[in-house]
Order: sequence, then structure tokens, then C-alpha cells
Amino acid sequence: MSQLPTIGHLIDGKTVHSGTRSQPIYNPATGQIEKTLLLADAATLEQAIASAQAAFPAWRNTPPLKRARVMSNLKVLLEQHADELCALITAEHGKVLSDALGELQRGIENVEYASYAPELLKGEHSKNVGPSIDSWSEFQPLGVTAGITPFNFPAMVPLWMWPMAVACGNTFILKPSERDPSSTLRIAELALQAGLPPGVLNVVNGDKEAVDALLHDPRVKAVSFVGSTPIAEYIYSEGCKHGKRVQALGGAKNHAVVMPDADIANAVNALMGAAYGSCGERCMAIPLVVAVGDATADAVIAGLKVEIAKMKVGPGTAPGVDMGPLVTKPHFEKVKAYVDQGVKEGATLVVDGRRLKVPEHEDGYYLGPCLFDNVKPGMVTYQEEIFGPVLGVVRVKTLQEAMDMIDAHEYGNGTCIFTRDGEAARYFTDHIQVGMVGVNVPLPVPVAYHSFGGWKRSLFGDLHAYGPDAMRFYTKRKTITQRWPSAGVREGAVFSFPSSR
Ligand code: NAD
Repeated sequence: MSQLPTIGHLIDGKTVHSGTRSQPIYNPATGQIEKTLLLADAATLEQAIASAQAAFPAWRNTPPLKRARVMSNLKVLLEQHADELCALITAEHGKVLSDALGELQRGIENVEYASYAPELLKGEHSKNVGPSIDSWSEFQPLGVTAGITPFNFPAMVPLWMWPMAVACGNTFILKPSERDPSSTLRIAELALQAGLPPGVLNVVNGDKEAVDALLHDPRVKAVSFVGSTPIAEYIYSEGCKHGKRVQALGGAKNHAVVMPDADIANAVNALMGAAYGSCGERCMAIPLVVAVGDATADAVIAGLKVEIAKMKVGPGTAPGVDMGPLVTKPHFEKVKAYVDQGVKEGATLVVDGRRLKVPEHEDGYYLGPCLFDNVKPGMVTYQEEIFGPVLGVVRVKTLQEAMDMIDAHEYGNGTCIFTRDGEAARYFTDHIQVGMVGVNVPLPVPVAYHSFGGWKRSLFGDLHAYGPDAMRFYTKRKTITQRWPSAGVREGAVFSFPSSR
């Protein structure tokens, strides 16, 4: 019998250890197995869905302000438990502790936004739309809803989903990433402590078997997904086929345009964090710089080389470390293979991080920062999402050439432009075919009271994640038209379609 801690599920307010299959959870900083994760089977899913279904009627009828107060309580608890949660994130994902705190803070802002749900749910009202007739629209919860989340933001991305779903009166089943589920699960326990009734939020750990059960069960009315594009496409088509409302956010390959008039020193600093922060494992990371003019490209590369030389790579818990390990060994191998591929297909490897060794952590999944020059469309290195600390510079002659290249890319999650020219920036933000755009801001991740989402093959569905779009996603509109005729007034039958003519 394994002596490692076993992670189960949170169903109906209780920890449940069920499922016949399991998988190890590694610490990427050391390469050691530290926990065992139980993978949910059909019986586990049945328990979770039945619990969420049973909790729905009472939760739906709980006054919105009382639901919102749970979110206010949770915000306080998350702040109190920040150190514990960040330690869990770093132990399983590998990112440095300060970065874990950044993601947690962004997640807390979504909880804070969910505490304003009563304001968002007020609906619309019109008096006297006809004689003695009033009409209003209200936004009713859907019932049991579900979310499937990726490894790279184990605290933040789940908090994009379930707080708004439950604040709107739904119940929720969350299936976190099987690579780093502990912080997600701990946050769900804190939600119970904050006053969320049992069954309103259930967490099932698992893989495709659990996801398919959620997609196929008719009691689940809506599914939110965040992860890679091939899985997002699958979730979207399979969920829609089974009559669900689906929102599936996929992968990315974000370009940063650097104009000749940009403040190069500032742009270089911004690019360093955007390319190598969190080891490049962010859907809003910048893996491509499009430099307008050779002089701009030369200056950017010279600046990046200086800054890369100062970077410290090591375990995310060590003081002063800028970049931790990649999440798993297979992902490390995959990213390294992309670097080999870039060399083979003719890009110039200016900084090679492949031989990095971190003393006393030889089994950790560390790859040093890599920098390519002369990356070109058509190369695999240009086209595919690498999701690692690999930055490529593409050389172009004009802004229009840069924009045409970005527009032709299959992904359209985020992009940005570094410039001092307001006209160029305005033209870029107006015309570029990308969902989230920054001007001298490398990671234009919208704040919690806007909504998050890309274009093209970065998002499948109509509504973006969190913010105002989340209220629309997790509710259905009902419009009621009501008449109370005065006593004694009788009208004859009317056969023409009623209108205000
Ligand atoms: P992933 O697609 O491998 O996994 C995401 C989720 O899907 C996990 O919960 C996983 O268990 C589940 N899953 C995996 N394979 C499945 C299958 N065959 N059938 C059903 N479910 C399956 O993604 P990941 O590696 O965890 O995360 C990284 C990816 O997520 C990157 O592509 C990144 O760009 C993307 N991402 C996108 C956003 C966004 O907002 N657009 C945000 C964060 C991450």
C-alpha cells in the first residue's frame, strides 16, 4: 500500500474516496511523486450529479443577496489562506510563489465580482407596454452546471467559473486538472466554510471518463471548459450534440508587435515577464515578437540577451527565483522537442536553455529560457502553441505585414503593440482579428468586471468567460407579459396579432 496522501473528491459537502483508477501527482521541482489522485468513475459522477441536482431547488430560491454573502465570506477566507493556497499551487504546478499569489489575487477578484450578482440579476422592467400591461425580463438559473479546467491556473480559472455560476443560483460540478488539483479542492472546502450549502459545489477529480460523463448526462445543463484547442473543440461539439450550453476556451499563440518608435528598454522588460513568467505556461503568454524593421529586431534581441543572462531558474519556493520548472516530465520533453525542431527548420537559436541544470534538483523539469531569431510563418515553431519558455522573433518590414501575419494565424487569444504612435496603436486595436489587445501592455488579461475570451480557434461559443458575459452564460432569460384588467371591463375576441399600432 502506498504511504502517499490520497486525494479524493468533494461531494455533497464531504470528502469522498471513490474510483478504482488513480494516478500519481509529481512535484515538478524535484520530479518526486508526492500524492496519489483518485480518478472518478461513473458511480462517483452519479453521486456528484445527484447531489448537485438535489441542492438546486433550495439554492435557486435562496435570495441573491444571501448567495452573494457567501462570496464575500469566501473572499476573506481566501485572503486569510493565501500562503497555504500558494504553497499548494507551487508544489504541484511549479510556478514561483509570487506568481501563484498573482493568480490567486486575480481569482479573488472574480469572487468579489460574483458578490455583486444581485445587481446583475435585477433584470429589466417596462410598465404600460400596452393598456394595463406590464412586461419584464428576468434571468433564471439553468440548474446543474459544470466546469473543466486546465493545469496552468489551478486556482484562478476555476474561480472564473463557479463563483458566478452559483451566485446566479445554479449548482456546479468542477473537474479540475488531474496534474495539480489540490489548491482547487482546498478552495472548494473554504467555500463550504464560507457558508455554501453542501451539494451546491461538488469537485470530482478525474480524466476523460469524468469529462464524458458530464458531457453526456442530461441533468447537466451547461459546461464551461478551458484548456487546449483540440479538447475545446471536442467539448464544444460533444456538449452541443447533447443539448448543452457550452463555452470552450482553447489554446493560443500570442504575438507582440514592436514598432521602431517603441521605448525598447520598456518593451524588453515587458516581454521578459510575458515570455518567461510562469515558464511560458500561460494562455496569454507572449511566445512571438514581431519586430518591425531589422534595427528594431536587433535592439530587442540585444536587450533580451542581457536580461535573460540575469534570470534565475530554480524551485518556485526558493527566494529570488524568476522561473520554476515545467509542469510534468512529458511536457518538458515536448517543449524541448519544439526547440530541437526550431533549430532543424532553420530558426537561429540565440539563447539555448536546453542544457540547464539546477543544482540539487537534477530530477526537476527545468528548461532554461530559449530565444530564437528569424522565426518565420510556416515553421512549426511559429505555428504551434509550445507552452514553454521559448520566445521567437519574427522580422517584418511594416506594421501592415505584422498585422496580416497575426490575422492569418489560427489562434486569436491575445496580442499587443509597443509603440509611441497613437495613430498606429488605434489602427492596430481597431482592425486586428484578436479578442484581447494591449497597447504597451504585454498581457492584456481583462479585469474581473470585463470578460475574457479570444477569437478564432481560441474560443468556441458565443460568450466570453467571467465578468458580465458570465451572468448571461449561467442564466436564461424569461420575459413575462402581465395584464390585470379592471374589474367589469370585458373585451371581445381579437384575431389580429397584438401590436402598439
Ligand atoms: P488540456 O486540454 O490537456 O486539459 C484541460 C482539461 O481537459 C483537463 O481538466 C483535462 O483533464 C481535460 N481533458 C484532457 N484530455 C481530455 C480528453 N481527451 N477528453 C476530455 N477531457 C480531457 O489542457 P492543459 O494542458 O491542462 O492546459 C493548457 C492548455 O490550456 C493550453 O493550450 C492553454 O493555452 C489552454 N488555456 C487556455 C486558456 C484560455 O483562457 N483560452 C486559459 C488557460 C489555459
